[in-house]
Amino acid sequence: MTERFDLAIVNARIVGEDRDGVGGLAVKDGRIAAILDRAAVPDAAETIDAAGRVLMPGLVDAHVHFSEPGRGHWEGFETGSHAAAAGGITTFVEMPLNAHPPTINAEALRLKKAEAEKSIVDYALWGGLVDDNLADLEDLHAGGVAGFKAFMCTATDFPRIDARLMRAGMTAIAGFSSFLAVHAEDEVMTGRLAAALRAAGRRDRAAWGEARPITAELAAIDEAIGLAEETGARLHIVHVSSAAGIDRISAVKARGVAVTAETCPHYLFFDETDLERIGPLAKCAPPLRAPSEREALWERVLAGAVDVIASDHSPCLIEEKTAGDDDIFAAWGGISGLQSTLPVLLTEGPKRGLSLSDIVRMTASNPARLFGFHPKKGSLTIGADADLVLVDPDAEFTLREDDLFYRNRHSAYCGATFRGRVDMTIARGTVVYRDGEIHPRRGARLDGAGLAAVRQPLGETA
Ligand SMILES: [Zn+2]
Repeated sequence: MTERFDLAIVNARIVGEDRDGVGGLAVKDGRIAAILDRAAVPDAAETIDAAGRVLMPGLVDAHVHFSEPGRGHWEGFETGSHAAAAGGITTFVEMPLNAHPPTINAEALRLKKAEAEKSIVDYALWGGLVDDNLADLEDLHAGGVAGFKAFMCTATDFPRIDARLMRAGMTAIAGFSSFLAVHAEDEVMTGRLAAALRAAGRRDRAAWGEARPITAELAAIDEAIGLAEETGARLHIVHVSSAAGIDRISAVKARGVAVTAETCPHYLFFDETDLERIGPLAKCAPPLRAPSEREALWERVLAGAVDVIASDHSPCLIEEKTAGDDDIFAAWGGISGLQSTLPVLLTEGPKRGLSLSDIVRMTASNPARLFGFHPKKGSLTIGADADLVLVDPDAEFTLREDDLFYRNRHSAYCGATFRGRVDMTIARGTVVYRDGEIHPRRGARLDGAGLAAVRQPLGETA
């Protein structure tokens, strides 16, 4: 007697981290039940013919800001998770800041968890390390946060930490086997440069980049790496914007230090001329870099030196962007990009020689490993959650505001033309997005996995 599946997808180009070939995939009870050869005709309640399309693991976005509780008018878990689904993201890990209160103690985590129940895809939550919450870190860990985030420079109502606090925080976090992610830009350097530029009357778009040079990123990366080596804490550097930043991380990895590198689609798609052209919608920190730097960063991506590509989706009201029309320093810094990760990589990657398996590795498998969610998430193994995205790699489209599921429909990516469109997203066996329509369901929260999984080096499978 043959097994009857809930769902089968046939004739797809099935791409995993280490597979790429035409065949089928069958789902039962929310999990991947079989990978089939191209001739198989599975018995299933629903069969989707995916000829000409690519089936990949759903993305695990390690870095999003949904701003709830407190700033649901910026995004929120409902619209944020809808946009995730539309972008092929089946798991996201939500940052502790931009919500109010920020997720820096057990009570704030409780409030965040209540809001997060609105998500239609699975998710995990980051905890925050700030200037006065060392005593709260263990509670946050016990509450299931997937990791900790700290800022080495000033952020909106999320106090930065200095080297002394980072050392203490790393020691504590290493003690209960979690890890620290840092926003690495040097506070003294960026603060002084911004003050000097403003004193000189500079408010233009280029001034934003001049205030936050690559040297400020490198100084902070070096400091964080030094403290990670000293304390033995596992370290993740978020949104690295420069090739030299990636090289610093690669050099210490080679010595066995547990540090990983993340970059974002906007550093691979845009450059500083786009900030000039688009304006505040393309303001982010670290800032967009020179065109040559973007290509150097691509070289690191192609060389396998980038562990994770995450959206750093950082939404706000349009007024917080237009406030910077005549003074770039006054605009909110952050790009709304959740839906654009796959289109960016499918458009820009293959023309530089990036394989689809490489995209899966950096957007799904490695981020799942980072949090200890692999192979349940980010893989196409039998028994893994049936979190899948079906893309049409040849479909060309121009992104419009109407395409966005964000609470505030603006993005630096609007008006850009892409080749590679998300057609369908499946979360634990259920279609949550199909041809422009959201099909809500309830996502589940994933707790941080702890020592064994999180310490596993990226790139090695269990
Ligand atoms: Zn961020």
